[in-house]
Amino acid sequence: MKKTESGRKSGTASAKKRAAELRDAINRANHLYYIESHPELSDPDYDALMRELREIETQNPKLATPDSPTLKVGAPPSGAFAEVVHPVPMLSLGNVFDEDGVRAWHTRTLDLAEVEEAAMVCELKIDGLAIAVTYRDGVLAQAATRGDGVRGEDVTPNVRTIRNVPLRLTGDDVPAVVELRGEVYYPNSAFEAYNREREEAGLPTYANPRNSASGSLRQLDSAETARRPLAMFFYSLGYAEGGTVPSSQWELLEAMRRWGLPVNSWTRRAETVEEVMAAISTAGEERATLDYGIDGVVIKIDSLALQDSLGSVGRDPRWATAFKFPAEQAHTRINRIHVNVGRTGNLTPWAELEPVNVGGVTVRRATLHNRDEIKRKDFREGDFVIIQRAGDVIPQVVKVADHNVRDGSSVPYEFPDKCPVCGEPVLSTEEDAAVRCVNAECPAQFERLLEHFASRGAMDIEGLGERLAQDLARNGIVTRLSDLFKLEDRQEQLSELEGMGEKKIANLLEGIEQSKSQPLSRLLFALGVSGVGSEAGEWLARHFRTMERIQSATVDELLEVDGIGPVTAQTVHEWMSLPANVSLIDELKNSNLTLEDDSPEPPQDHPMRGLTLVVTGTLETMSRSDAESRIKELGAKTSGSVSKKTAYLVAGENAGSKLQKARDLGVRVLDEETFTRFLAGETPAELATR
Ligand code: NAD
Repeated sequence: MKKTESGRKSGTASAKKRAAELRDAINRANHLYYIESHPELSDPDYDALMRELREIETQNPKLATPDSPTLKVGAPPSGAFAEVVHPVPMLSLGNVFDEDGVRAWHTRTLDLAEVEEAAMVCELKIDGLAIAVTYRDGVLAQAATRGDGVRGEDVTPNVRTIRNVPLRLTGDDVPAVVELRGEVYYPNSAFEAYNREREEAGLPTYANPRNSASGSLRQLDSAETARRPLAMFFYSLGYAEGGTVPSSQWELLEAMRRWGLPVNSWTRRAETVEEVMAAISTAGEERATLDYGIDGVVIKIDSLALQDSLGSVGRDPRWATAFKFPAEQAHTRINRIHVNVGRTGNLTPWAELEPVNVGGVTVRRATLHNRDEIKRKDFREGDFVIIQRAGDVIPQVVKVADHNVRDGSSVPYEFPDKCPVCGEPVLSTEEDAAVRCVNAECPAQFERLLEHFASRGAMDIEGLGERLAQDLARNGIVTRLSDLFKLEDRQEQLSELEGMGEKKIANLLEGIEQSKSQPLSRLLFALGVSGVGSEAGEWLARHFRTMERIQSATVDELLEVDGIGPVTAQTVHEWMSLPANVSLIDELKNSNLTLEDDSPEPPQDHPMRGLTLVVTGTLETMSRSDAESRIKELGAKTSGSVSKKTAYLVAGENAGSKLQKARDLGVRVLDEETFTRFLAGETPAELATR
């Protein structure tokens, strides 16, 4: 008897210790996922920790502390944004993983509701982040993240920049105050290009579109959010005041569509578990064709009255559950571990795999994320591993399938302490998992820069791709960008490169010659200055008009350029001041590249010059973007939001909150007719007289 007692005690003691470890690991993962948008664990690994903790707590109810992550939603607000208290908490969702799970949920729910049957709605489970948007008198008044379910972050200015989120609802049945919820996501099609841009700007890349949606929305500068192609789907009602609300989920979706909100068109009604399973199976088939990530199907009881009576348990509503798709995983072997050096010097490890089919795609390589991940999971060359396509985009190695099958030759992987390309020691810091080569002369960085310089959105040099860039750099034929424009004298060396026949050389030289007339904006982007993407290239070119002026601009002057923030301003300034870059620009000038913006110079004396205007609402005679282009052509600026710096608000039909804000701040409002006269050159005094 005594023995059993002490045995139980020690069992409880180890469960207590394990529960504490799991809670720490989960709290840390929550912070990285919800606040930093850069998780270190894969979702299935995270789910496994959560399941283990739940099991321990079920078996030892005394260990279920009130602050356990099993009882909580998300993570508390970061403090970087103002806090919003949700009048109705934003919950999570329970999960099921197979038909039995769906059946058990269904039976339990009908029993609790004391009904024989209940209509259900199946919706795609969008893999983004939940946002609550409040409309007052039909106008977007507030948007908040879920946060910890009770307190979220105020991201109103950021959500306002999402193109498919209306600033004003339409229809005469919109309640006076209504909070509607949905998911903000990052389209798959834009994700890879965006990650490439980040890599070029020397910023950490995102592991999947969900993380980039979260990172993009939680920007402190909404102009930065505006640059990302975020989109949203609405799917639920938080609360409403003043007006009637639909009585079912299905009607709510219809109503939201009517009010002008984006609602996912894939929605199915179901009466039985069989119908739910059929819907899930179609969703699984269509998953690969969608331009957004989904990680399952949400099944909801249709009647909102029934939803209310069922209520919630802990962090999950009882009236809904999420069927989670199994991650697309496969077993294979790591043949070799390689380390890539990016254009900005980041060392990224990847695994060369025994080719394997994962969800219809043959995978040959997969990311190993970073040095710490390799160490933590002890990945070695020759290991049998489980790989998975995360968010359906970048394949990743999840874990070693079986440590026991390693033979005696297996050794832990040693991450290089020297750059694999230039051999210089690499730099790593405690705070950041990244390991970097900081040698500016490193050929790997130069190869990528050369490839980027010649790429389509930059100088667009036909025939100069990854392979040739590598050959030119590694053979010392091109060691500076300016060498490209002297290749005519090095035809002999060119002909020694593999695959470079006479015709190819002639085409390459022709492509290089033509690239000299690319506009200044393209050249600025092509130079690969951190933070200067194609748009920033345009803004700089338009603002300063000549490379010379950009070279001599101070940080403050650079900050005057719309869209350029302090980090980019500082980087551009430093880049332009570096002697090596000054001589590079000189050489490019001598090679007759276009160093001046040749779009027409704005008239010197136009009354609009130098002012900042905001355009809102629908104009009759031109689109909003045309209006903005014309404003810029006249040497004035446009902005997305009304502030004290705004000189005029141009208000078309259905102007919403900006009009109100302009009135509050005393900013002068122009109707379309007056604006057209302003464009034509009438002075403010003349405008005021009519
Ligand atoms: P969840 O993602 O499993 O489900 C709830 C969420 O689903 C809602 O809040 C809402 O945002 C979303 N949703 C999407 N479409 C919806 C629809 N049509 N109707 C209703 N809701 C819809 O739960 P969670 O609490 O947000 O997050 C837990 C999950 O997040 C974990 O299972 C894991 O996959 C991931 N996570 C991963 C890490 C990590 O380190 N990798 C850390 C924390 C969380």
